[in-house]
Amino acid sequence: MLEGLNPQQRDAVTLPAEHALVLAGAGSGKTRVLTTRMAWLIQTGQVGPHGLLAVTFTNKAAREMLTRLSALLPINTRGMWVGTFHGLCNRLLRAHHREAQLPQAFQILDSADQLSAIKRMLKAAGIDDERFPARDVQRMINGAKEDGLRPGDLDVRDAHARRLADLYQRYQDQCEREGVVDFGELLLRAYELLQREAPIREHYQRRFQQILVDEFQDTNVLQYRWLMLLAGAHTPVFAVGDDDQSIYAFRGANVGNMADFEQRHAQGRVIRLEQNYRSHGHILDSANALIAHNTRRLGKNLWTDAGEGEPLRVVEQASDALEAQWLVDEIRALIREGRPAREIAILYRSNAQSRPIEHALFSARVPYRVYGGQRFFERLEIKHVLAYLRLIDNPDDDTSWMRVVNFPTRGIGARTLEQQADIAAQQNSSLAGAVAFVPGKAGAVLARFATLIRELAEAARTLDLPELIGHVVHHSGLEAHYRADREGQDRLENLQELVNAAAAFVAEEGFQGLPAGRVPAAAAAAEAASGPDAAFDMGAEPSPAVMSPLGAFLSHASLEAGDNQAQAGEDAVQLMTVHAAKGLEFDAVFITGLEEGLFPHENSLLDAGGLEEERRLMYVALTRARERLTLTLAQSRMLHGQTRYGMRSRFLDEIPEEHLKWITPRQRPAAAQPPWSGAFRRGLGGWQGEAGSSFAPRAARTQSSGVTVGDQCFRIGSGVRHGRFGEGTVVALSGSGAEAQARIEFRDAGTKTLALGVAKLEVL
Ligand code: ATP
Ligand code: MG
Repeated sequence: MLEGLNPQQRDAVTLPAEHALVLAGAGSGKTRVLTTRMAWLIQTGQVGPHGLLAVTFTNKAAREMLTRLSALLPINTRGMWVGTFHGLCNRLLRAHHREAQLPQAFQILDSADQLSAIKRMLKAAGIDDERFPARDVQRMINGAKEDGLRPGDLDVRDAHARRLADLYQRYQDQCEREGVVDFGELLLRAYELLQREAPIREHYQRRFQQILVDEFQDTNVLQYRWLMLLAGAHTPVFAVGDDDQSIYAFRGANVGNMADFEQRHAQGRVIRLEQNYRSHGHILDSANALIAHNTRRLGKNLWTDAGEGEPLRVVEQASDALEAQWLVDEIRALIREGRPAREIAILYRSNAQSRPIEHALFSARVPYRVYGGQRFFERLEIKHVLAYLRLIDNPDDDTSWMRVVNFPTRGIGARTLEQQADIAAQQNSSLAGAVAFVPGKAGAVLARFATLIRELAEAARTLDLPELIGHVVHHSGLEAHYRADREGQDRLENLQELVNAAAAFVAEEGFQGLPAGRVPAAAAAAEAASGPDAAFDMGAEPSPAVMSPLGAFLSHASLEAGDNQAQAGEDAVQLMTVHAAKGLEFDAVFITGLEEGLFPHENSLLDAGGLEEERRLMYVALTRARERLTLTLAQSRMLHGQTRYGMRSRFLDEIPEEHLKWITPRQRPAAAQPPWSGAFRRGLGGWQGEAGSSFAPRAARTQSSGVTVGDQCFRIGSGVRHGRFGEGTVVALSGSGAEAQARIEFRDAGTKTLALGVAKLEVL
């Protein structure tokens, strides 16, 4: 087991049972060390498989860890506590839902569900959407939860802060009423549960004799506290991480946890790994050179003896469509050479970028698989079916009620729903609870819907999960609705995929033949026998199987939404955001959209911390590749209905030229670019967009990145003079003809966006 590890890795694997930190760069074997340590601990008899708790960042990583583990040791990994923070907390709360004051069938809101729940709350509270935009309220609530704060813990200095705390409270009340929890709540509840209930806490502290954490740099304050609480006084925590790969600060991740852990717990037991086993020299040196531009680093060295390999290739295309086409041609060539498609990854900064790439791959019939993004379980038609399923499981789930009460249309109008919501608010009940009190015809229509849900719930007592889903699709009217829809065919196919996904899930979890709504007999009996508060005191706490197949599937859909089951197993090109690629590796990687404002993202450019996080993200992207790395960019891009003309990403300039090979001619910055123009490249995003409707035809746009007005041609980088503002540089362009605009960075007058047809500008 220890063979093939280098001495530092071996030291890490065989450390005595104390807190320890492995701090090392990308591809140095952190995850491998962590997995090997799990196997080693088991094999040397220091702990049984069930005495381990291991946390990883994605479900994919958790599965991979279990696969690697069973390759090292012939053990049954089923039922082991290996998963994401959310997955493990969910499991804890299901097992102890009573103590956590949750209904057994509590539903999990993803962030889109959460946003609509917040909008509903704001509306019920009569809150002005202008003053308290739902997204801001959502960010505030999630931020508070990540810091472990309840409404009463907030600092309410002024009226505004008091109001926000009040909204947070109202949202919580609504969630309680509906029996739903959001992602942040999963963690906070689980934390509070352990903190409050000493017997439960002590049980798990005894049970887990070793805790291991991968990607430690991305834990937030609450996750860290949860871990240390679970560890208690005796359980050692083995954490591995890389500060240069901390990419979730925007979601509350706190690199400070590493420093704190090192100082307070690991006290000097820090192991560094310096040899990279993943990437060839050019790739590794590029990544090292790039990250050296960051100032806030703990500092590490990484070297490889894998040889130089090929330089990074850089490709610039006129448009995103051409970029996608180029990618597809290239990938087909790689596949023809015999490279497995799954060893090829296309990475992008934002989900929205995947569309043209998917389109090109699809047209060329190259199999591909998208992680994240418009996830399978997030597609509209899937969410509709899931909403029906959730109502079967828990009719008080108002979010689901609102989603499908009038979908497909049943003639239930907005007024009826308002009336229903008012009644529900008055009697403090769920929407379902208010149906009986809605008078007249409206009441009758609502009652019919309530009856439909009851009938579906009845069906769940006999049908198994895949059958139930087929039944719901049919009886809800969704099937007829999509059949009548011209574009409904795709959606129907996706619904069929949902049935397939459910069948696979049932088989995997051992639920075959069980009615969807029934809790497996053994688990139910165990829980019944142990009584409400003895459940955890029987030596083994209730298994996650206290859930019915339906309940388990709904959790799975909320928590593991990342994978499109439909294409599992197929040898397919991997598409994902850079965030989703963390921890993974591929033979060939394409990083796309290397344009200012896109990567680095425009939102990050306002402060140095934001830019450093983007650079760490780029570091993660670069270090995913083993052999071949290609960087692509487009001069124009259609995004969110806007055409944007971006400059080359600064990250390309931060990689030493000796590692790059330009496949397409390197576009020089425009000759007219004045010497001070460097300023905007550091300080500002490089783009400007406008509504798509007023654009010149696509073909015309993509021929050049310039915009012609009269006899002058404006390009990005052009020097210009304005009568009042003086001299400046064009940093972004959009539109054409009368709609053409330029964003100009003036030397003295700051940045202005000017209509080219109106402003009197002279190209220098
Ligand atoms: P990241 O920071 O990206 O998560 P990591 O530090 O977790 O990377 P691993 O994924 O564990 O790195 O390892 C990177 C690659 O190097 C893997 O393919 C792994 O199998 C391989 N590897 C690790 N250690 C060794 C070794 N001693 N000999 C050969 N290959 C190794
Ligand atoms: Mg790793």
